[in-house]
Amino acid sequence: MKKILVIEDEELVRNNILEILDTVDFVAIGAPNGHLGVQLAQQQVPDLILCDVMMPELDGYGVLSAVRNNPATATIPFIFLTAKGEKTDIREGMNQGADDYLTKPFRRKELLGAIEARLAKHAAMYGGYAREKNRLMASLQQVEAQLNTAIHYDGLTQLPNQLLLREQFYQIRDRAAAKNQTIPILVIGLDRFSRINKTVGPGDADRLLQQVAERLLQCLGETDIVARLNADRFGIILGSATPKPTQSDRPLSPENSSLPLAQTLLETIAQPFRLDGHEIFLTASIGISRYPQDGDGIDPLMKNANVAMSHAKQLGGNQYQFYTREIETSQLEDLILEANLRYGLERSEFVVYYQPVVSLETGKIVSAEALVRWQHPEKGLISPGKFIPLAEETGLIMPLGELVLRTACEQVRRWQSAGLPSVRIAVNLSLRQFNLPDFSQNLARIVREIDLDPRWLELELTETILVQNVAETIEKLKKLKALGFSISLDDFGTGYSSLSYLQQFPFDTLKIDRCFVQNIPRNSTNTALTNAIIQMAHCLNLKVIAEGVETEPELAYLCEKNCDKMQGYLFSRPVSAAEFEAMLANGDRMAVIPVQSR
Ligand code: C2E
Ligand code: CA
Ligand code: CA
Repeated sequence: MKKILVIEDEELVRNNILEILDTVDFVAIGAPNGHLGVQLAQQQVPDLILCDVMMPELDGYGVLSAVRNNPATATIPFIFLTAKGEKTDIREGMNQGADDYLTKPFRRKELLGAIEARLAKHAAMYGGYAREKNRLMASLQQVEAQLNTAIHYDGLTQLPNQLLLREQFYQIRDRAAAKNQTIPILVIGLDRFSRINKTVGPGDADRLLQQVAERLLQCLGETDIVARLNADRFGIILGSATPKPTQSDRPLSPENSSLPLAQTLLETIAQPFRLDGHEIFLTASIGISRYPQDGDGIDPLMKNANVAMSHAKQLGGNQYQFYTREIETSQLEDLILEANLRYGLERSEFVVYYQPVVSLETGKIVSAEALVRWQHPEKGLISPGKFIPLAEETGLIMPLGELVLRTACEQVRRWQSAGLPSVRIAVNLSLRQFNLPDFSQNLARIVREIDLDPRWLELELTETILVQNVAETIEKLKKLKALGFSISLDDFGTGYSSLSYLQQFPFDTLKIDRCFVQNIPRNSTNTALTNAIIQMAHCLNLKVIAEGVETEPELAYLCEKNCDKMQGYLFSRPVSAAEFEAMLANGDRMAVIPVQSR
């Protein structure tokens, strides 16, 4: 019910108005003078004020200004009651902010009409404001919630982000500290993801990341927290903390610590992902640090987990590693290595090793893959996994790549001249080398200078190199083939697994990555995939080399499935030129299962 305050010193008039208002469902309050009126207005905050102009002590104008100057009452509709002929007063009142006036004597209808009109106008104005204000508040709350989400969650995967992970760490730590427990912190990095990103494009890479996030979530318990740290890195804090080792326990080292969850996570990620009907294979590397022994704040713990993760990557990925002091020292050495790379080139510290590729038809060596090694004066032989990425980053891969190419071609040429059985030489190309504008001409010039027939040189390219600029790459490959070189697709299966897509590039040989060859026929997924790859490749008239063959069962299966060639430790590791030469001279061969149907 609306409340109306009537300020009128003439009792008769006041009561008359109060009576009229009472009949129409208003709560009417009377005030006999201005002071009391102002007081009541502030206490009761009526919906409308009727006020006489002429009153002793505080008149109507005084009341009006007091009402308007108080924020609580400032917008209350205010109607002046005036005696006839006080026209100037009326104008004055309206100027000061009255909403309307009624000239006494007025009739019931006039009074109620004026009141209704004012109330309606006020409702329209301030009711609207109130609604608007509520709407604004609601959308502000929404914005605030969105902001909160944006600050604490990752937009792509909807997982918590680094900030939330940090905040939650302290809660988990307080709980764990009370129970004297250890908290494992995991950093998960997807192996070769930048390469996959380049191959499938950012949209599909995002969808892959979302699927990865879902799988991670499925592996975790309610008290564990998983966050996306950046592009292809995730962090996990295990809230279900483990008991802290007692004094008598041996200190934890990579050898005597294990974390079953880490293994589960690796296996979950290794299951094939599907993107538009294609299967994509991912592996991850996990680094683990533990509160409190590896740090008491989230910063050192995350840093150390990252160090352990990089170490796991360096060891080939698809594994987990606990943080140790020793790992950190070895990574420091990497930085020094980078600085030394240039000097290594100047001092001719790089040597080329050769790994035989064997025909599964004849068991004979048919080619050699040239694999570079760094003969470091202090550190000994350093594997390319350690310095090729650095060389790529620094651009040193260009002189280094050319050095390997020349050395390998010259070597094969010498073997030919010496009358040894002719073998092909396969050389790995890096993206930067292949992208050089005069790459083909340069290559043609090199073999001409060495006097090597281009058909003895095979160029190994990865999917990443091929799909950079499809049309241009196809042209370039055609040109290389026209010059007589052969092309093979290296590490097949580690990027975008669609052979139907890759077939548009004119290559001759497909090298199945060793991750697929591993453990066949025991590992049924690998077995099915390897089999399918061999069959598809043969349909496309491609030769197939299986990489990383290490065991007899692997070899037997590959022979049975008509794989053309193999390369792996089972026959030989990469060896020096002298050792390779000896193998060639001896006519070393492998016992293979003859396949009649070839
Ligand atoms: P890749 O091209 O896939 O070379 C095959 C790698 O697998 C070699 O490692 C080889 O030693 C290894 N391997 C061969 N058989 C087996 C096996 O049975 N079991 C296992 N576990 N491994 C086997 P490596 O020599 O360490 O080379 C690593 C990578 O470095 C190469 O991978 C290649 O991508 C790159 N690389 C090597 N030399 C060069 C080069 O001259 N230029 C460029 N751009 N990259 C190179
Ligand atoms: Ca290769
Ligand atoms: Ca390879």
